Amino acid sequence: MTTELDALVIGAGFAGMYQLYSLRDRLGLNVKAVEAGAGVGGTWYWNRYPGARCDSESHVYWYTFSEELMKEWEWSERYPGQAEIMRYLNFAADKLDLKKDIQFNTRVTSARYDEASKRWHVSTEGGETFVAKFLVTAVGCLSTANVPKFPGLESFKGDWYHTGQWPHEGVDFTGKRVGMIGTGSTGIQAAPVIAAQAKHLTVFQRTANYSVPARNVPLDPAFKQYVKDHAREIRATTHETLNGMGFKIEDRKAVDTPPEEREKIYEAAWERGGLQFRASFQDMLISKEANDTAADFVKRKIRSIVKDPKTAALLSDIDHPYAAKRPPIDTDYFETYNRANVSLVDVKSKPIQRISETGIVTEDAEYSVDIIVFATGFDAMTGPLQRLNIVGRGGVALKDVWSEGPRNYLGLQVAGFPNLFTVTGPGSPSVLCNMPVAIEQHVDWISACIGHMRTKGLETIEARPESVDKWVAEVNELAHKTLLPMATHSWYLGANIPGKPRVFMPYAGGMVRYRETCDAVAAKGYEGFALA
Ligand code: NAP
Repeated sequence: MTTELDALVIGAGFAGMYQLYSLRDRLGLNVKAVEAGAGVGGTWYWNRYPGARCDSESHVYWYTFSEELMKEWEWSERYPGQAEIMRYLNFAADKLDLKKDIQFNTRVTSARYDEASKRWHVSTEGGETFVAKFLVTAVGCLSTANVPKFPGLESFKGDWYHTGQWPHEGVDFTGKRVGMIGTGSTGIQAAPVIAAQAKHLTVFQRTANYSVPARNVPLDPAFKQYVKDHAREIRATTHETLNGMGFKIEDRKAVDTPPEEREKIYEAAWERGGLQFRASFQDMLISKEANDTAADFVKRKIRSIVKDPKTAALLSDIDHPYAAKRPPIDTDYFETYNRANVSLVDVKSKPIQRISETGIVTEDAEYSVDIIVFATGFDAMTGPLQRLNIVGRGGVALKDVWSEGPRNYLGLQVAGFPNLFTVTGPGSPSVLCNMPVAIEQHVDWISACIGHMRTKGLETIEARPESVDKWVAEVNELAHKTLLPMATHSWYLGANIPGKPRVFMPYAGGMVRYRETCDAVAAKGYEGFALA
């Protein structure tokens, strides 16, 4: 079956839903979305692991393009949990009447640009074809699960799960010995919840990680009313802050603050909890000396919480600057290691070698488990795009154009791939920003661009190769003005996937500057793009 469209959107998470709405209801296009899952939700549809919760605060983690939506919805907790976010996204999808134009259970297997007809031909696993003038990918940055290729996994007699492909019916850990690999944001959220249920939890840690308490609480009626009354101001704040959050980064510098005062500031931030911790000082991510003060504070906290000195030493032996990897926030993560049924295994000094029929085998021991949880992250940013098998003009594949790392303009378009837009693609702030803010900015820009083309009777838009060269250099330069590339094993750099090129992928110049750049490009008649 072939369906002809003005535009096809791939994905029905936060990004795909808003993109569908914008193109359909604002521009009046004939548009559909396809979605691999059986429902809306994207990241939150798949990541149902125990403890899954957002680390943006709820009052900034939603759509802000419609004041009506903001006023009708009420979050119940400081940080929304996975189930509540799913309820929210279903509420939004129903309110905007989106589901009728989303084809669920539909995985895209390839997308090929036909130069003669100037149309994208998109094929699905079910054998369907969509032919569309515009193709917008809204596939998320963290949607391609990474299950390390440990030999023997297929022989494991127990059950195993990746956190990003969690069974919808849940997993019962009661009476089970659980091995969890990975201590990123996901593992740090999951460990306390699994430990509370399982007979025993063994956490396999390769790289020790920082974490700050989230201090999640139910929201009181006064705050809920405040959010309703100040919807506009809250939105404005998220447009003024570096990372689209609802809090501002302090002007003061850690290096200029006397040690006792600095300690008090960190202590207050620790008590307040959440990602605001990294906003305590403006130099935290640009000066190693400043960062060391934060790193030292968190490491001391870890050692004061964890009672067993050996475990405490392993957990606080962190080799990268604070927040150079995505900083997790937690609920009782370090406290969990004080439970009698939890143990920590260092797989940095003694790496996992294989999976046996009964458990996890490291260089010096075998750990028998009934269930293995892979909290091992994702082939981030480029992975979700590469698995679409995109082929542009002249039969050139995206995987070849990006063989040495992502190359695009504004994170939005790749030279040689006309009328293809990548929402929150590499080279845009995306994962360094509160995602809904990054998403709304991209969708608004893409929709305005398509609107402009229609008004002017233009057929195609394509990033110019020289704009790509300049943009890639700028993304790289901005990253290296920060401490971010110092976390050499981070997924920001692609370092978590064996063989993946090491290129710092997100745009580190901040959301405000990025938005201004995109707006200026549009105001100058889409400078740097070829329009025909
Ligand atoms: P991640 O940050 O990439 O962490 C993966 C973990 O698995 C790391 O500890 C990694 O160790 C370990 N690992 C991977 N391969 C391994 C191997 N072969 N042997 C041993 N250990 C291995 O993934 P994630 O925790 O799923 O988080 C990814 C991102 O999702 C986060 O950074 C965040 O942006 C997002 N997220 C957000 C939330 C939230 O909003 N609350 C929650 C969860 C996730 P190494 O560090 O040594 O590679």
